[in-house]
Amino acid sequence: MKLHSLAFLFVSLFIFSCSSSSGSNDGGGGTTFSHTQGVGDTANGFLSASEYTSLTIEVDYVAGFQPSQAALNNLKSFLESRLHKPGGITITVDDEISSPGQSPYTAQEAFDLEQEHRDIYTEGNTLAAYFIILDGEFENENVLGFAYFNTSMALMGERIESISGGFGQPSKTTVETAVLNHEFGHILGLVDNGTPAVEDHVDEANGAHCDVESCLMYFAVRTSDFMSNLMGGEIPELDAQCIQDLQANGGK
Ligand SMILES: [Zn+2]
Ligand SMILES: [Zn+2]
Repeated sequence: MKLHSLAFLFVSLFIFSCSSSSGSNDGGGGTTFSHTQGVGDTANGFLSASEYTSLTIEVDYVAGFQPSQAALNNLKSFLESRLHKPGGITITVDDEISSPGQSPYTAQEAFDLEQEHRDIYTEGNTLAAYFIILDGEFENENVLGFAYFNTSMALMGERIESISGGFGQPSKTTVETAVLNHEFGHILGLVDNGTPAVEDHVDEANGAHCDVESCLMYFAVRTSDFMSNLMGGEIPELDAQCIQDLQANGGK
């Protein structure tokens, strides 16, 4: 079952680029909630308060690539503006991991590291999500982040650092925020991948993305090519259609 899941995951990575799906099985520590469902499969649990009233996010990072507190605060604000979580949203920066030395990383390797280091899983009314910040590169060096299971995301911290913070580059906080928010958008089922599209705005050529170029969920947001355009420090936001989709699936 796991082998099947992972094989499908790799195929999906090529289809969705930075978002992927897989089968479900193996709770990985939760009670009845499975943390190895496809990306977007538990979008309603994130958006509405019907089952989960709180959200906790764990962040583990490879030494040297701790995300900025400002970016994490931005992620929290973004989620607070879209999710019904009356019990609150907390983000915990947890383990510093010594470099696994595995660059370029595959989604499988990100998942292996997650299993080794993740401490917080969904329990009771508190839903849990996970970020791992990696050194080096993804298989596709242009990719700055990817979501690989229903609660799991990875950021390519070293790639983000290499394209930000320097002369003529956007700030590190701007790029980190854009990638954190974009990958979480996939966990929320965007676009038409767990949260149905109310109006047709799916980028057919780049599955699970929005066809509005200014939208946070435009496919290129997770690439280094796109980021060089963010010189003004403006972080892409969801367009009206993506917001409408989230609202129709229980979000704000
Ligand atoms: Zn994406
Ligand atoms: Zn959109």
